[in-house]
Amino acid sequence: MVGFFIVPDGSLLQVVWQVGIGWVAAGAIVLGVLRHRPAVPALWWLIAAGVAGNAAGIGVETVLTRLQVDGGFPSWADAAYLSLYPLTAGGLMMLIRHRSPSRNWTTAVDATTLTTGIGLLAWIFMIQPAATDPSIGLLGHIVSVAYPIGDIVLLAMTVRLLLDGAGRNVALRWVLTALLCFLGGDSAWVVVNQVNFEPGPLAHKALASVFLAGYFAFAAAALHPDVRAATRPAPARPIRPGRGLLAVLTATSLIAPVLLLAETAMGQVDDALAIGIGCVALFLLVLARMSQLLTQLDVQSQKVRELAVTDELTGLPNRRAWNAELPRALERSRRDGRPLTVALLDLDHFKRFNDSYGHPAGDRLLKEAAAAWQAHLRTVDTLARYGGEEFIVMLPDATRDAAHQIIDRMRAATPLGQTFSAGVATLAPGEHSDELLARADAALYDAKRAGRDRVAVAAG
Ligand code: GH3
Ligand code: MG
Ligand code: MG
Repeated sequence: MVGFFIVPDGSLLQVVWQVGIGWVAAGAIVLGVLRHRPAVPALWWLIAAGVAGNAAGIGVETVLTRLQVDGGFPSWADAAYLSLYPLTAGGLMMLIRHRSPSRNWTTAVDATTLTTGIGLLAWIFMIQPAATDPSIGLLGHIVSVAYPIGDIVLLAMTVRLLLDGAGRNVALRWVLTALLCFLGGDSAWVVVNQVNFEPGPLAHKALASVFLAGYFAFAAAALHPDVRAATRPAPARPIRPGRGLLAVLTATSLIAPVLLLAETAMGQVDDALAIGIGCVALFLLVLARMSQLLTQLDVQSQKVRELAVTDELTGLPNRRAWNAELPRALERSRRDGRPLTVALLDLDHFKRFNDSYGHPAGDRLLKEAAAAWQAHLRTVDTLARYGGEEFIVMLPDATRDAAHQIIDRMRAATPLGQTFSAGVATLAPGEHSDELLARADAALYDAKRAGRDRVAVAAG
């Protein structure tokens, strides 16, 4: 790179030097792949070919000019220069595919938003002028439009990689650097052309060296040991955009309307169609992003709702769920004139069990008991964990005797030879849910006092 600045301007040596840097870089990529053996070598072959082809363009251009074979535009040099785009894009596509094997829609939408905004700018300032320039023929139009389109494709992939957290991998950081060099170099040329600035020899060299730095960065990527991890799937990204990304998305979403305002202020709207299409695309992308967020919100609130009413250990409804359900069951029972019975269950000497076998064994017992009891209930019955080692059962449409039988069967099913005591109470006319529970609790107390491992039925 230093040599490039030292060798005489316009000399053949300078051209050889430039092409040499590109080819040495391509060779270094090959070397890096052979040395580190990344999982997907093909993508690096493509990038190496793109770098070699692009660098060859400098040589081809010089040869054509020296031989005075039509040095006009477009020429074979453009074919060589342009080869960078499809080859690199192909390689990057493979990289992106491997990094997010399950389609990451959030990243895709964000990347498309950024690309659409910047693409609109490119269309207005580069693509459209190039496509309508009368001084070049059809091939000239195609070739001059191909450069900015290639840049936009590379930009989309750069953004995609950045959003996928590629910056955490050193090799990919070099890849991003290379892409930014090519994009930055091309953008600099666009600005230079737009303001009709004729760069002096040093500025010319500085601009050319940006592309040489791009070759160099690709080589550095392949030579770094991190190249092996480059295609590993990236960890999922939070769907909510961070502050920086949100600012960038906001700015790019505003490009289309701001362009319209700017053209209106200047008295002539030349690009109404392009701006209109850009606005539509950006609106749709913002809506897509919003609906992604809302879908995620729905999924999460559903999860939170489930967690709020579920006991973590046993997976049974918890006390909160029970408290919400009981008044509804009371209401139904009254309306239909059918009985409703509740039973409070409390494991006997559970503290002793914990003390003998340990707390984790106690947890396991709670879990297994819940599952075993559940098997003896009808689908209309609700078994809930009331607290600690206390459970509660709601038995709609069950009389006191029927409930007694069901609870007895559950008692027999208690695992590990353990037992429980239960208090059963059937809803009395006009009774409040608190009173019903108090009677069941009193019956449970009776069962404990009478020696445990039994069912007591509340009076009334
Ligand atoms: P009783 O027959 O009178 O009901 O005696 P008990 O030992 O079952 O009742 P006590 O109220 O004295 O003790 C209940 C024990 O249950 C104490 C507490 O450590 C234990 N416990 C409460 N929740 C859990 C839990 O989630 N896991 C485990 N392993 N133990 C629990
Ligand atoms: Mg207890
Ligand atoms: Mg107990």
